[in-house]
Amino acid sequence: MASEETSGKENEKSIQHVQDDPLADTNVLVSRPVPAGVDRRQFLIRSAVGGAAAVMTGCAVSDQDRTSKAVETSKPAAGAAAAPALSKDLNVVKKGEGHVLTTVDEFYKVGPGPSSSHTIGPMRITYDFYQQAAKLPADKLAKATKLQVNLFGSLSATGQGHGTERAALAGLVGKEPATVDPKFLDSLRDDKNQVFPVKLGDKTINVSLADVIYDATKGDFKHPNTMTVKLLGGSEVLLEQEYYSVGGGFIEWKGYTPPKKNTPKYPFRLMKELREHADREKTSIAKIMLANEMSIAGRSEAEVYAFIDKIINAMVATVKSGLSMPEDDVLPGPIKLHSKAATVYKRAMDDKIQADRGIGALSAFALAASEENGRGHLVITAPTGGSAGVMPAIVYGLLEVRKVDRQKVRDGMLAAAAVGYLCKHHATLSAAEGGCQAEIGVASGMAAALAATAHDAPSLVVENAAESALEHHLGMTCDPVAGYVQVPCIERCAFGAVKAWTAYAIASNEIASRHRVNLDATIAALAETAKDMNSKYKETSEAGLAVSVVLC
Ligand code: SF4
Repeated sequence: MASEETSGKENEKSIQHVQDDPLADTNVLVSRPVPAGVDRRQFLIRSAVGGAAAVMTGCAVSDQDRTSKAVETSKPAAGAAAAPALSKDLNVVKKGEGHVLTTVDEFYKVGPGPSSSHTIGPMRITYDFYQQAAKLPADKLAKATKLQVNLFGSLSATGQGHGTERAALAGLVGKEPATVDPKFLDSLRDDKNQVFPVKLGDKTINVSLADVIYDATKGDFKHPNTMTVKLLGGSEVLLEQEYYSVGGGFIEWKGYTPPKKNTPKYPFRLMKELREHADREKTSIAKIMLANEMSIAGRSEAEVYAFIDKIINAMVATVKSGLSMPEDDVLPGPIKLHSKAATVYKRAMDDKIQADRGIGALSAFALAASEENGRGHLVITAPTGGSAGVMPAIVYGLLEVRKVDRQKVRDGMLAAAAVGYLCKHHATLSAAEGGCQAEIGVASGMAAALAATAHDAPSLVVENAAESALEHHLGMTCDPVAGYVQVPCIERCAFGAVKAWTAYAIASNEIASRHRVNLDATIAALAETAKDMNSKYKETSEAGLAVSVVLC
């Protein structure tokens, strides 16, 4: 007993020592017995990381808590090598074979944060089901008693931190992402017992959050973001559909076939082909994309630009709204994260060094839009909710600070879309498939193309800028703390924006023809890295920061 007391005091002394200098004595962090049946190395690493995080953050976590967390997370991961392969039936897998046919109105979507795949996608899914169900014959609807949503895979693993159940319920009661009032979603969080009548023909069915079920996180799913929606009449299934939220707010379902589209004026599968069109026509990537938007969607130039203007305005609004939040605002969720966009902006503007002011302000713009995403307010998928701070930061900087002509920003939005389409076409925009490289990495590549285009860079420089920005995000994992799109996501948007600007700066100042890596090769690397990445790092909150950060 006496020796236990002595060693306890020694431990306290060591901990104090570590608090003074976190790297002074790591021994204290690993000098605890390893429980039976647990891999020693794994245990010690996780215990040490957890302990170090606790000490550095001044967070008092008991040895016992640390031990149980380390034990829990040092168990060998099921299927530890890589996530199961995606089903070959999915259009999101097959699509790389044909020409790029995505259009801006499919790609840039306005909707509530915090996640395009876990919030906007599920809301679109249940809204789609609600519309299908409403079309059933009256005799079938007369039997209906219940609507039920089951969430699987990553939707189940991290859905609670993304408000997936609230988004799914909102879609069921007939609300769409672009027009839903975020206050409605907030009210679901504040009062979980609310019941809503859903009218299907002559029948009214009551639904609540209890009808959205967090189901199996592991299984043989066609896509990691799988969900089913059912209309039941007692135990009889009247209508059932299996859906997939495949990233960026895009959705598919079992048996999905993509809508028929017109042939693009300038067909391309690769950036190489897109750039060849631009160079042959002696025009920009943006103008080629505009011609394709018009031919694929059958829209006039004015209609395409009107949509892009709507997105630009929404991006500016999200930055403004984030910057105007009180400096002591605390974001929803268990992290209790204080917003910092306004503080960073004010202090950056006081910086005596102009270059530092610029980097600080750009970071603050990205933090502002990303914090809006964390609040569940309306954001724009560019390409996703988690990355919703990156493109708006550059758009805001160009329009509101640098006062760049709006037409150049519109062109930049089209060039950025080309980069996003190619990543979607050949790799993924879904963190559940490819980790954070697929979100912030793609957003940064898009933002670099935007910045280069807005400064009239030639098409090779636009490609080089996008390539550099994406290249330097390859391998980045997705490990949101507590499943909330806040840590590391909010700061990560700031880094994505600054890296985009750096990539543009390098690309516009280097000798463009000497740039050795092309965008197509980097997108191929993104796709391969996504396939090889351990599933623990694909929006499951099972590893990385999600484990090492100790909340208290
Ligand atoms: S870590 Fe990256 S990919 Fe994962 S939720 Fe955050 S922003 Fe999205």
